Amino acid sequence: MPGARHYLDHAATTPMRQAAVDAWVEHSGAGNPGGQYASGRAARRALDDARDLIAELLGADPVEVIFTGSGTEADNLAVTGLFEASPLERVVSTPIEHPAVLEPVKALGLSGAQVELLPVGSDGRVFDLRALDTPAAVACCMWANNETGALQPISEVIARSSAAGTPVHVDAVQVVGHLPVDFRMLGATTLAASAHKFGGPRGAGLLLARRSPAPAAVLHGGGQERGIRPGTPDVASAAATAAALREAVGEISAETARLSALRDRLRGGILSQVDEVMVHTVEPALPGHLHLSFPGAEGDSLIMLLDAAGVEASTGSACASGVNRASHVLLAQGVSECDTRGAVRFTLGRTTTEADVDKVLAVIGDVAERARTAGMAG
Ligand code: PLP
Repeated sequence: MPGARHYLDHAATTPMRQAAVDAWVEHSGAGNPGGQYASGRAARRALDDARDLIAELLGADPVEVIFTGSGTEADNLAVTGLFEASPLERVVSTPIEHPAVLEPVKALGLSGAQVELLPVGSDGRVFDLRALDTPAAVACCMWANNETGALQPISEVIARSSAAGTPVHVDAVQVVGHLPVDFRMLGATTLAASAHKFGGPRGAGLLLARRSPAPAAVLHGGGQERGIRPGTPDVASAAATAAALREAVGEISAETARLSALRDRLRGGILSQVDEVMVHTVEPALPGHLHLSFPGAEGDSLIMLLDAAGVEASTGSACASGVNRASHVLLAQGVSECDTRGAVRFTLGRTTTEADVDKVLAVIGDVAERARTAGMAG
C-alpha cells in the first residue's frame, strides 16, 4: 500500500475548490454568450455575474475584467499589447519575471525594442528604480516572485512609472487570492492573475485592464472581451474562477497566519537538522513559500528522494522542471550557479496540514544526506 502523499507545490498549482467544481458543473452546458436568443442571454448573464463578482473582489470595474485562457496569456496580451499601443520603443522589466513575461519582453527586444532590467538584491527584490524615471512603452514588474515568494516594491514601481507617464503591467499570478488586491488603489494599467493558483480551474486566467491606456489587440478575431482577448468565452471556467476567488479572498487573513506559522516551523525544523542550508525566501514574502538550497546536492536528486518518501515539492519554476537548468531568479539575486542547482521550493497552501510539515521534517535529514552523497552530476 503506498503511504499518504504530502503535496507541497501549491505555487505550481493548487487543488480546485469544491465551490469552483460546483460552479463549473452548473455552467458546463452554457452556450455562446454572444447568442441573441434565450440560451445565449443566459450564458451572457452567467458571464456577467462572474465578471461583476471578480471586479468587486479585486477593486476593479466590471469592464476592466478580461477572461483569458491562462496567466501566461494574460501576461502576453498585456506586455505585447501595451508595447504595441505606445509610440515609444523602450521596455523596463526585471530579470526575475516568470517566463510568461520574460519571454514576450525578450521577443520585443529581438524585434528592436530597447530593454532595460532593474537590478535585484540578495533579498530577491528589485532596487534602484531609476530606470523607471525615463518614459517607456511599458514597465513590467511581478508583485510576488513564484520561486522565492519575494514581494516586490510594487507601489513604488507603479508610482515611479506613472510619474514618467509609463503604463505598468503587474504579474500578480502568485498574489491574487493570497493577499488583498485593490486594482483601483494600486494604480497599475494592467494586472494578470491565474485561476488555478487560488483553487479555480487550470487553463483560466484574468487580465485586469484599465480603459486607457488599453493594450492594443495582439489576437485578432470576433472582438470579445473588448477585442483584447477575442474568442468565445468559457462561461463555466469564468463562473468557477469567480467562485474560487470569492472563497480565497474570504480566507486571506486566516490563511496568512496559519501558513506563515507552518512555513516557519518547516524552515526552523530543516535548518536545525541539516547543515549549510541556504534560505532564499526573505521577508517580505508570500506566507506559503520556502525556497532553499542544499549546496552539494542536485535539486533533481532531492526532488526524486522526497517524491519516493511521499513528499511532492519542486526545484522552483514548474516550467523549467525536467530540465536541470540554473534558476534565472536565484542567479539574478546573486546565488552561485553551483548553489542554485541544489534548490528545492516548498510551497504551502489551503490543504497543507501539520502532518505535511511533520513528514518533511521526518525525512529531510536522510534525503539531504543521500542527495549530497550522490553529489553533483558532471
Ligand atoms: N506568472 C507567474 C508569476 C506564475 O507563477 C505563473 C505560473 O506558474 C504564470 C505567470 C503563468 O500562469 P499560467 O500557469 O496560468 O499560465
